[in-house]
Amino acid sequence: MCCNGNLTEKELQPNSNDTSYLDTIKGMRFFDPHVHMTSRTTDDYQAMADAGVVALIEPAFWLGQPRTAVGTFRDYYSSLIGWERFRSSQFGIKHYCTIGLNSREANNEALAEQVMEILPWFIYKEGVVGVGEIGFDDQTAAEEKYYRLQLELAKEANLPVQIHTPHRDKKKGTTRSMDIALEHGLDPYMVIVDHNNEETVKEVLDRGFWAAFTIYPFTKMGNERMVEVIKQYGSERIMVNSAADWGISDPLAVPKTAALMKQRGIKEEDIFLATYKNAITAFAQSGQIDEADFNGSKEIDQSQKFNGNTILRGGQQPRIDKNAIIIK
Ligand SMILES: [Zn+2]
Repeated sequence: MCCNGNLTEKELQPNSNDTSYLDTIKGMRFFDPHVHMTSRTTDDYQAMADAGVVALIEPAFWLGQPRTAVGTFRDYYSSLIGWERFRSSQFGIKHYCTIGLNSREANNEALAEQVMEILPWFIYKEGVVGVGEIGFDDQTAAEEKYYRLQLELAKEANLPVQIHTPHRDKKKGTTRSMDIALEHGLDPYMVIVDHNNEETVKEVLDRGFWAAFTIYPFTKMGNERMVEVIKQYGSERIMVNSAADWGISDPLAVPKTAALMKQRGIKEEDIFLATYKNAITAFAQSGQIDEADFNGSKEIDQSQKFNGNTILRGGQQPRIDKNAIIIK
């Protein structure tokens, strides 16, 4: 932090090694409702825990290249409720997930049919807080078909829906996603519309949906723009996430944005709602989130095992001082 107490540009850069912004948010807790931890390292988990992230939601999504068989979907969903949840617990972070067929892979209809058949095996599992992320990518007929089918699934299971809005032709895709959800009789309060920007947020809020914002480093929705959105719209039904995945992204986007909000004069109550509480309120409608599970003192035991496997390698001792420059 610089001499006058303001955060420097460098500290708030994505993936910066400078962690002095943590002083600004000391004691605050964060809930990242959209982050693909399967693609991230244990260092990311440790850094998130150090920055105050106490819980997160990992939506099922596409893995960067198309899957070729239903078995790989089954194993992926199993890992979201199994191994990844365990890995997260080893850093004291409560891990939830949403399960769904992503929009891109909905375009392989033969495979999509098989995936639809296995979804009911997973959406009722413990810790599954919604159907997601689903919606439109290229806004094709196949995407619409499987979006509609999954809305019905969510309605039947009484689960929230996490909607991925398209990056191309976003305004139209967002409006259409909401129109279709309403057509299927979903309560907008059960629907979290993700990847909003200044063009979409007003309509999403006016229609009673939750508006989630992904902080993308270097492009699209940076966190300075996010601060302006909160200034203009307040914090009601707004939530911030990192959507960090295998691409260039920042798993610390939520705590960094909270730090920037604080520095730019956003009220603590609004920061609390947008970076923690609203996500809980929205996804707890699944009946699967108990704040007490991540709100108390953390007990971390890295000697624990999952199906006989641990996160430790080759006789490692659980790591204690991550900032030591001597690696032993
Ligand atoms: Zn995502």
